[in-house]
Amino acid sequence: MFEEIKEELAQSNTQLIAVSKTKPIDAIRNLYNQGQIDFGENKVQELVDKYEALPKDIRWHLIGHLQSNKIKYIIPFIYCIHSVDSLKLVFEINKEASKINRTVNILLQMHIAKEDTKYGLSHKELIEVLEYYTAPQSELKYIHIIGLMGMATFTEDQNLIRQEFRQLSSYFKMTKNTYLLGKDNFREISMGMSGDYKIAIEEGSTMVRIGSLLFGKR
Ligand SMILES: *Cc1c(COP(=O)(O)O)cnc(C)c1O
Repeated sequence: MFEEIKEELAQSNTQLIAVSKTKPIDAIRNLYNQGQIDFGENKVQELVDKYEALPKDIRWHLIGHLQSNKIKYIIPFIYCIHSVDSLKLVFEINKEASKINRTVNILLQMHIAKEDTKYGLSHKELIEVLEYYTAPQSELKYIHIIGLMGMATFTEDQNLIRQEFRQLSSYFKMTKNTYLLGKDNFREISMGMSGDYKIAIEEGSTMVRIGSLLFGKR
């Protein structure tokens, strides 16, 4: 399955984030030995444990909701935090990163699903973050906002999923053409999971987060 997915993604220049949450070290090492270096986890403790046990050139992505008091544990090594869903979190990540003089890649998680259980920023909250980030004397110097992330509604309705991904792409374009015009750093749209990654790619995804299709069901 890994080879098939990789080939499919290569055609569209989409990056694969292998979502290894709940899966053992050996399963990760197995994929790593086949050339995969980007892995995604949704819990800080599990992520830290796996980071310590595995090769240090793995690029770790946090894809789950992050509590402020846990930021410090991942700041020294995290490659990208996909799930930044509040202005407060933006400032707190920046603060922790400043303490060790490291710049951390983050994605702003947008609320695109119909369910209100899913985390994410509204359009208005996105603008607010961008205003702070691009202000002339901004203190947000220890984060790079490299893109947006979103999760579609869990549904069989392919049209709804497509609409939601299209909404995320349009937030991305708006940002790229206004607040972050000319900033090459801002380049990623993280969308698509095992069940909907094909639609996500058609709608412009640059990073898909795939778990069960690679590792089997959880
Ligand atoms: C678990 C998870 C995934 C992967 O889900 P699969 O359906 O197993 O591919 C992707 N993104 C997030 C945010 C997740 O929590």
